[in-house]
Amino acid sequence: MSKIKVMDELLANKIAAGEVVEKCASVVKELVENSIDAKSTTIKVELIDGGLTQISIIDNGIGMDKQDAILAFQRHATSKIYKDDDLFFIETLGFRGEALASIASVSEVIMETCMNDIGTRVHLKGGEKVDISSSSARIGTSITISNLFYNTPARLKYLKSETSELNNCISYIEKLALSRPDIAFVLSNNGRVIIKTSGSNNLLKTIHEIYGLNVSSNMLEIKATSDDFLINGYISKPSVLRKNRNHFITLVNHRVIRNNEINRAINDAYNTYKHEGFYPVIVINIETDPTLVDVNIHPTKQDIKMSKLEDLTELLYQTIKKVLYENLLVPSAIYEEDNPDDTPFIDEREFFNPSNAVAKPQPEEEFKEVTITQTAFDFSSQADDIPVIKNEEFKGLKLYPVAQVHGTYIIAENEDGMFILDQHAAHERVNYEMITKRFKEEIPQITDLLVPVSIELSKSDFNSFWENKKVMEDLGFTIEEFGINTIIVKAHPTWLKKGFEEESIRTIIDIMIENARSFSKEKFLDSMAKMVSCKMSVKANERLSLSQMEHLLEDLVKCDNPYNCCHGRPSIVKYTNYELEKMFKRVIN
Ligand code: ZN
Ligand code: ZN
Repeated sequence: MSKIKVMDELLANKIAAGEVVEKCASVVKELVENSIDAKSTTIKVELIDGGLTQISIIDNGIGMDKQDAILAFQRHATSKIYKDDDLFFIETLGFRGEALASIASVSEVIMETCMNDIGTRVHLKGGEKVDISSSSARIGTSITISNLFYNTPARLKYLKSETSELNNCISYIEKLALSRPDIAFVLSNNGRVIIKTSGSNNLLKTIHEIYGLNVSSNMLEIKATSDDFLINGYISKPSVLRKNRNHFITLVNHRVIRNNEINRAINDAYNTYKHEGFYPVIVINIETDPTLVDVNIHPTKQDIKMSKLEDLTELLYQTIKKVLYENLLVPSAIYEEDNPDDTPFIDEREFFNPSNAVAKPQPEEEFKEVTITQTAFDFSSQADDIPVIKNEEFKGLKLYPVAQVHGTYIIAENEDGMFILDQHAAHERVNYEMITKRFKEEIPQITDLLVPVSIELSKSDFNSFWENKKVMEDLGFTIEEFGINTIIVKAHPTWLKKGFEEESIRTIIDIMIENARSFSKEKFLDSMAKMVSCKMSVKANERLSLSQMEHLLEDLVKCDNPYNCCHGRPSIVKYTNYELEKMFKRVIN
């Protein structure tokens, strides 16, 4: 190859590097995917300064011979090095060999690889050969990237802080580890182990290794099949929530994907089980015919397009709803000894101040021995054996009111323990389910208003209201036009709270207008039910008699979801007898 041609190629690689490699995590991603292709069962990622100084990936895969090791860094050359039988998987990998060439062109690379008994060591700087020699004969590949973007200062300045680069790598390896429970991953930074999974091929165990006991012991298994999809995985109980959707991990054919419709379906299924703005931990694998998945999208992005997406989102929605409905979700009052905070790794202090460390530094160990400390949680039993307490039991429960505290909380008891209820949240739940059921009445019960409510609207609000008014009419509202841009409501369904009719009607119309832009009947009815049930429920600082409390408790235990108000706030908390005894040291342990 002529010198000019070589220079051209180097330049092309540098340009490509800008496209493929944006951050340390993209280097990690490219290299780790290579390791997966090479059929590694253990992959170790060692970072120095979050990857800014150095990134090393050590695997126990099939390795390369000398010829392939040299070829690996040439553009357009490497996709044939590793061939996976799974065509879908290959397709998703996209930039493959080009990525390696690109990364090499903007850093210093040392790779040691061995396939049989002769190891090869390749040393490149800025994409140019420094040295090729023989090396140790450990089967597998280790590759070290130093000083990323040292020769492209324009790109260098786009790298973020150590914390931010590190967090990206953590987030990537977490997801990958959950997508491949069969592979043992270790991620460390400056010698400190941050993630360590055992490659047990047990998803629940991997969830435990990533998220800890508080999460893994609060997961519900989900399983479903349809003609086109097979779904399995775990979803967290509403007592385990995060502040963002980063822990919605959805895999299609074991590959991490992102799809807004899928995320929305999952979130909708938790409607009223949780606060708006809080999200469960979800790890779901969706198996499907690869031809239904469109992977012809930029490979560094995880967004996918899918045929039959609606069938899939409906299946997910129904499955999650059913699992939440079937399981007993009343939270225990005793605080779990696990850090429920979102991603404990965000905080720089936790990282760099060893006394504050989340995970204790662990001594380096032999490469292949990834051992996991035993915990109280038993993963040897398959998920089928996890005892699930059914919601049905709660429905038959008898709770006896004992007292009201601060005019706001109800103390109740039964033979199992003590319960504390938020009276407004509990009553709101009862009313919400009552109203939602009444929406389905074929012939609504109606009362006429003594004084009709007339509401003047702006032209555009009037139009958007008029377009969708049938939804309200079906519920039993009588609505007429009355002069310019004015409506008049003459009758309403009986479930509106007495004395609050006009106020409620005005709010309902406001909700309808607010949602007019992309009107969805379901969403409208739900917001309306939430608003009306809040309004008609007993407030805080309202005295209740013992028999009023008794009624409320009776109604609550009959609810489909007695555990939350319709906005997702807890309505009932339980102290088991054991927890009470523990609290007062009647029992030790
Ligand atoms: Zn409320
Ligand atoms: Zn509420």
